Amino acid sequence: MRIVLVGPPGAGKGTQAAFLAKNLSIPHISTGDLFRANISKGTDLGKQAKAYMDAGNLVPDEVTIGMARDRMAQPDAQGGFLLDGFPRNVSQAEALDAALASDGVKLDAVLDLEVPEDEVVKRIAGRRICRNDSAHVFHVTYSAPKTEGVCDVCGGDLYQRDDDSEETVRKRLEVYHTQTEPIIDHYRAQGLLVTISALGKVDEVTERAMEALQTDRAAQA
Ligand code: ADP
Repeated sequence: MRIVLVGPPGAGKGTQAAFLAKNLSIPHISTGDLFRANISKGTDLGKQAKAYMDAGNLVPDEVTIGMARDRMAQPDAQGGFLLDGFPRNVSQAEALDAALASDGVKLDAVLDLEVPEDEVVKRIAGRRICRNDSAHVFHVTYSAPKTEGVCDVCGGDLYQRDDDSEETVRKRLEVYHTQTEPIIDHYRAQGLLVTISALGKVDEVTERAMEALQTDRAAQA
């Protein structure tokens, strides 16, 4: 399956993407994670991306689209993938449409995770992520780790992302409304949009997502 996940920062895209990718046996491709990996390795691409990310802005398309296409061209992504954080504006969506068309393949669904804005701010401000694996996500009050600052899953160090401060979150939400939300209409027009609520426990949302994708598939068959 080829799936795109959309939703505001804090909707739980990363968390859900990790579970869904595992359930569907497809790689989870997160442009945010790819940028963060480049930043921690000190690559040129990472250096270019960091200032945009810290300000809550999008990294320019020239950098992002090439990086996403390179990742999608890897052998493990030939049978399908789950994109998380890409595309993030209409021109990226058009670039993705063109890349898929030239490979003779299509998206199966675009899963939109809906969550109210005040919930998003609360979720992000308390979010703590494991340095070893960004899929190990905790929250200081909603899902606190057993030992403060230590990952329950692997014992890694928990940290707060540089762009998770309240001020940057507000900027990221504004960018989401103005630049990313228009891709929802783009995909609705293609008949690909599947919307679910991202409220509730993590496993409830995963179940809802799997059900929605299966229903959508059955409807298309
Ligand atoms: P979130 O969904 O919580 O905002 P991500 O990890 O997906 O977090 O993204 C973090 C930052 O990385 C974004 O605010 C942006 O600066 C950059 N980024 C990620 N994906 C893209 C993209 N497709 N286009 C441009 N910038 C991106």
